[in-house]
Amino acid sequence: MSWAIFSDVHGNLEALEAVAEDFGRRGITRAFFIGDAVGYGPSPNECLKMIAELTTVRLMGNHDHAVLQENGPEEFNKHAQAAIRWTRTALNAEARQILHSFTMSQTVGQHHLVHASPLRPQHWDYILDQLTALAALKNFSEWVCFVGHTHQPRIFQEAKDSPCSELPAADLHIKDDARYIINVGSVGQPRDGDPRACYAVYDPERQQLTYARVPYDIEKTQDKMRAVGLPEFLIDRLETGH
Ligand code: ZN
Repeated sequence: MSWAIFSDVHGNLEALEAVAEDFGRRGITRAFFIGDAVGYGPSPNECLKMIAELTTVRLMGNHDHAVLQENGPEEFNKHAQAAIRWTRTALNAEARQILHSFTMSQTVGQHHLVHASPLRPQHWDYILDQLTALAALKNFSEWVCFVGHTHQPRIFQEAKDSPCSELPAADLHIKDDARYIINVGSVGQPRDGDPRACYAVYDPERQQLTYARVPYDIEKTQDKMRAVGLPEFLIDRLETGH
């Protein structure tokens, strides 16, 4: 049994297609999408359709939520605002319907899934350090909480001897006597300095986690972004992974 947990596709079809191929190579049996299908990228309709086909669980991200509103979003920076306004005009009826079906959080056995933080999910808080992770750990009861939102793979652990420590974002065995917050990184716009698409592969029986990094045709995505007039800042950042 092998699960894929992925987040922050952001309308990047080339990254999503590469990741879906990787699912096949790795024998993924179940895929969970934990938010931000759209925003930033040039292929929102295609990404939503593919996410609906690939997954059994689909969660709402802050960009997904903003795209469904008529006004705003003032809380986003100007590049993100421009992308959200463009996405609203680009979205077709089928894609809009898929977006509307997204939920805020989900529990699967001893695994909690939420886009930003289990603490006030609708506030889209960022889990960036031990302090914010500590607050989040108090707001779910399962062993593991998978999140996205920051576009950076990260692991926080609550163990007997320490209320919250950060572990390297690398292969991990989920211990029976510890709890975890695991950020799965971003498929469509990684921001940890590695531009390859990122997602988490998890074996719930062996309690073993690994991060997958998948190269994709970044230039093709950039060309599509240019063609629809998305901000240059968003186009450039794809190749640096920042
Ligand atoms: Zn995002």
